Amino acid sequence: MSLDYDQNNQVDRIWQSCLEYLKSKINNQSYETWFKPISSVKYEEGMLTLRIPNRYHVEWIESHYGELLKAALSSSNYPDVVISYVVPADSRKTETFNSTPEIEVRAEEDKSGLNEQYTFETFVEGSSNQFARAAAQAVADAPGKTSFNPLFIYGGVGLGKTHLAQAIGNHARAIGTAKRVLYVPSEIFTLEFINSLEKRKIDAFTRYYRSIDLLIVDDIQFFIKKEQTQEQFFHTFNALYQDNKQIVLTSDRPPRDLLGMEGRLISRFQAGLSADVQEPELETRIAILNRMAEENQIPISAEIIDLFATNIKGNIRELKGSLIRLLAYASLSSAEIDLSLARRVLSEVLGSSKVQTTIEDIISFSAQEWGIESNSIIGKGRQMEVAAARQTAMYLTRIMTGHSLKTIGLHFGGRDHSTVIHACKLVAQKILDDRELSERIKRLKKKLEYSSA
Ligand code: ADP
Ligand code: MG
Repeated sequence: MSLDYDQNNQVDRIWQSCLEYLKSKINNQSYETWFKPISSVKYEEGMLTLRIPNRYHVEWIESHYGELLKAALSSSNYPDVVISYVVPADSRKTETFNSTPEIEVRAEEDKSGLNEQYTFETFVEGSSNQFARAAAQAVADAPGKTSFNPLFIYGGVGLGKTHLAQAIGNHARAIGTAKRVLYVPSEIFTLEFINSLEKRKIDAFTRYYRSIDLLIVDDIQFFIKKEQTQEQFFHTFNALYQDNKQIVLTSDRPPRDLLGMEGRLISRFQAGLSADVQEPELETRIAILNRMAEENQIPISAEIIDLFATNIKGNIRELKGSLIRLLAYASLSSAEIDLSLARRVLSEVLGSSKVQTTIEDIISFSAQEWGIESNSIIGKGRQMEVAAARQTAMYLTRIMTGHSLKTIGLHFGGRDHSTVIHACKLVAQKILDDRELSERIKRLKKKLEYSSA
């Protein structure tokens, strides 16, 4: 082997070997969707830079394959490599991103641990998160100066806790209300603590944490049953608190439910303000998808946004993930983003947990809404109410179920599939300028949603 040291070769080698590893660990579909579109850019000073189609793709990779990537690097004999991502500035041009200017997603490791994409501006507000959002804003405006100390944000997976907590840090730093901001996942706190014990650097660890103006510890529930970490955190907490420094914590459950956490910590957690984030309601889900599509200039119809927002209920990460998946599929197969592709993606995202709205329900609810008999929807009548109810029901069936046009036609009194298409188009168009109809459909959808939940 020649000794000439070739940067390009090295980066290719590392990445190729990672890919081999990944291929052996995940199924082909996932590999094709998530890793095929990634290319390696450079390897420098222990940092591997990857180019990824868009920033949601980055998020997905980080949250779903972060650990696996680390393992891949280890198995390639590069265990300590840090990965950084670049995405094309204009992520529409996924195909030609070589020539487009690029923005750094995460350049060198920022000591604050903050991710600048998580801001209040990018956080969509709804009744499910309004309270937490307002409390977060108050804290960010005047950290350590409100009675919301600590601010304890809790709620289920993927509902925006990390986003909100990070937004506090970003905002406080931007407007200068806190100088030294640190965001740390609780597991990292634990790891650093253990490391500092082993290396006899506990003083440095303690000093470091106590010098922070705004400390954000994410997913504090992972402290459960780690007595030593809890003990250490208790002292850190007290030191900061007495200095009027702000503490922000997140957790998957309220303080009182943190079984296995020391009582004195729990009562500290309860001393400030606890705010929960709940599952977003339909309007918020639609708004989140719209925002995301807009930001990324994703050409996606209102119909598809409705489809996703209606069916993916509890988890915003999944909701966003489904759109990324759709994008990835579309760009891979250079297919149009249409309803059938969207359906396919959706059924994958939902897996077996899919709760199907039935055509029968749709028909009977629509009939109710227009004050007619279910039978007339299926029948031949052409009165205005009947036609409107029928068309709406067909439209809803198309959006809310996985049935083909043909099947839908059959269920609606053996009508032709072109009749179904016509009805769907008509309704989709009417919704835009007929407020009353659009309200009616919204209401119906909600009812159906609840009935099948
Ligand atoms: P959690 O920490 O509660 O598990 P995250 O904060 O990681 O959830 O949120 C998961 C994903 O959903 C992130 O991409 C986040 O940006 C997004 N998200 C959550 N809530 C909102 C919201 N209200 N508006 C916009 N995006 C949101
Ligand atoms: Mg989180």
